[in-house]
Amino acid sequence: MRSYDIVVIGGGPAGLAAAKSAYENGCHSVLLIERETRLGGILNQCIHNGFGLAHFGEELTGPEYAYRAMVELQETASGVEILLDTFVMEITPDKTIYAMNKKDGYFEISAKAIILAMGCREKARGALAIPGTRPAGVMTAGLAQHYVNIDGYMVGRKVVILGSGDIGLIMARRMVLEGARVLACIEIAPQPGGLARNITQCLEDYGIPLYLRQTVTAIHGKERLTGITVSEVDENYTPIPGTEREIECDTLLLSCGLIPENELSRKAGLVIDPKTGGPFASGSLETSVPGIFACGNVLHVHDLADNVTKEAIEAGRAAALFVGGEKKTTSKEAIDNPKVFPRKVVKPVEETKPETSDDGAYGVRRMTCIICPRGCQLSVVLSDPPVVSGNSCPRGEEYAIAEVTHPMRTLTTTIRVRYEDGHIGRISVKSKGEIPKEKLFELAAKIHHTILDAPVQVGDEVLPGVLATSAT
Ligand SMILES: Cc1cc2nc3c(=O)[nH]c(=O)nc-3n(C[C@H](O)[C@H](O)[C@H](O)COP(=O)(O)OP(=O)(O)OC[C@H]3O[C@@H](n4cnc5c(N)ncnc54)[C@H](O)[C@@H]3O)c2cc1C
Ligand code: SF4
Repeated sequence: MRSYDIVVIGGGPAGLAAAKSAYENGCHSVLLIERETRLGGILNQCIHNGFGLAHFGEELTGPEYAYRAMVELQETASGVEILLDTFVMEITPDKTIYAMNKKDGYFEISAKAIILAMGCREKARGALAIPGTRPAGVMTAGLAQHYVNIDGYMVGRKVVILGSGDIGLIMARRMVLEGARVLACIEIAPQPGGLARNITQCLEDYGIPLYLRQTVTAIHGKERLTGITVSEVDENYTPIPGTEREIECDTLLLSCGLIPENELSRKAGLVIDPKTGGPFASGSLETSVPGIFACGNVLHVHDLADNVTKEAIEAGRAAALFVGGEKKTTSKEAIDNPKVFPRKVVKPVEETKPETSDDGAYGVRRMTCIICPRGCQLSVVLSDPPVVSGNSCPRGEEYAIAEVTHPMRTLTTTIRVRYEDGHIGRISVKSKGEIPKEKLFELAAKIHHTILDAPVQVGDEVLPGVLATSAT
């Protein structure tokens, strides 16, 4: 049986940062196991901007963030061993890991410490118990994201999104840019679940209506989805009879929440926190089984990859101290004194009716700043020059003035690449800087009809001056 001091399970941003941190903190026998054929985790399919401001000091796409995290690992912790295409099936409290892959078959590894970094999964139709038939065309937003962004399949043409979490909002915009009509985003709660900036740049930018206090009460269609019934709900989220209306559509994307991926955690006997759905963890991110640590979305669902990285650095350090014998803990610490994670604050919907300046001379536009995830609520007095308030930094003022004079956006999408053996793959690209908002569709259509010839490197300008690759 192979043995390592620390084994990290999962090669997303949590696993990458935890492995690097464990190595940098003096533990040089580290193995990272990932079930996919490449590292990066969910970030590889999140081709939109919005990652990395805190950790890398600039706004990156998901694949760019993953690439940078891998480069960081190679540069400072190149001794970390990596096992790709390998599925961990079980772990035990004595820290034996049972895994399998095509090359080695079924095998065991022993570890002095384990760091869990397996991410989370989406709530699917079964968990939501939506009545009706079971046609094709109903799937989670994350699965659709994988089909569209990685596999290059278009999942539908007339789309409704159920749930206004960030994945659903991002997929609403993505589907529109790929040529679909997104008819509605339906949310059961009285306020949207996603970040305010995603409401602005994914729904409002494309005129997609958001219906609050409503839910899907029936699914129609035999082989393919033909439509849904939507009903209003009362304060207990119970559908109100008589409020039903039909929407004709061929695709329903579910974006109704994420749950930590805790099958391995349960099998290992870790005590699960019902509030987060992940294992209880102490201040040093050690679970109820001494020597098993957890970080990232497997522990609790994070909005920002940067926070995942920060937490994973802590987990890696704590695991290295544990292996070095500098840290003694008991299973009680995680349960008696569990780490409390900040809960997402959902802000009520802001009134957006037009107002005038105090002296009544000018109109006022209210907007959400989309520059960073903080999503400051801005007011712009439409004088000449416009006067901005509500911004927490100068970038908010620049954004608001541009928004009322010449709105700009970054386009992130994928482009086809023809490889030497003739097969066509897909890589993510983003516009070189911001482009006028009204040019988004024109550029998206041009990209749609372009096929690049391999080789293509990260950062290559593929449409000179306009478009660069953000990962390969
Ligand atoms: C659609 C979407 C949009 C997002 N948008 C943003 C954004 O704009 N900005 C931002 O900062 N954050 C965003 N996030 C959040 C951020 O991407 C995640 O919080 C972060 O990637 C989670 O990292 P992780 O390493 O915990 O999990 P993951 O990235 O999910 O990685 C987990 C890894 O573990 C592997 N794994 C799981 N089980 C096993 C097993 N049994 N054996 C081996 N390997 C296993 C998986 O294959 C995967 O690679 C978004 C997330 C999603 C889903
Ligand atoms: S004003 Fe500054 S802090 Fe606020 S959302 Fe915009 S960029 Fe972020």
